[in-house]
Amino acid sequence: LLLLGIVGFRNILPNLGDVFQYHHVASGEYGWNLILVNRDNYIPDDYTVELTELSNGQKVDSRIYPSLQEMFDAARAEGLGLFVADGYRTAETQQQILEGKIEAYKNEGYSSEEAEKKAKEWVAVPGTSEHQLGLAVDIVSLKNQRLDHQQENTAEQHWLIQNSWKYGFILRYPTNKNNITKVGYEPWHYRYVGKVHAKKIKELGVCLEEYIENKDQY
Ligand code: ZN
Repeated sequence: LLLLGIVGFRNILPNLGDVFQYHHVASGEYGWNLILVNRDNYIPDDYTVELTELSNGQKVDSRIYPSLQEMFDAARAEGLGLFVADGYRTAETQQQILEGKIEAYKNEGYSSEEAEKKAKEWVAVPGTSEHQLGLAVDIVSLKNQRLDHQQENTAEQHWLIQNSWKYGFILRYPTNKNNITKVGYEPWHYRYVGKVHAKKIKELGVCLEEYIENKDQY
């Protein structure tokens, strides 16, 4: 991974029906690296992120780049090849991904309403994706760059599950926390929270929602 450039970017609010619907704005009260974004906590409309571009064109928040590089170097030293399949996304990109998924379901014969409902089970609505923060990376094996069930069986994912916390990254949606995160199967989605928090989250066996909720106790 190479540092190619830094791009300043202001998130643009999605032009959706969201204006008619109350939603909570994600708070950064515990610091930028612990901001909780999910379907109930939207990215603040004044959120800004300074980005660093990776050698494959993906971008991440510049503050997490050194740790990401460190993690990739450590994996490489053990003969493993990690690949960032997806990093920072704009609200527009997120909207396009959602629309693509809705179309795919419609092509399978679902009604517009059903297709939208099903698509939203898999793709976050713009404003609710951690990828818009630049703090989330979808990491796959170089040998298998598809985001599919095979990822879980790669040596790279096994290594990440064991070691990512050392570099400040957590597996964001563990399968056993689906009932809390409301996100299904995503073994490739890692979220930067910083080394201190990643270690605690790993030790406690909690997901980010639980960690933030009980933050004052730690
Ligand atoms: Zn992801």
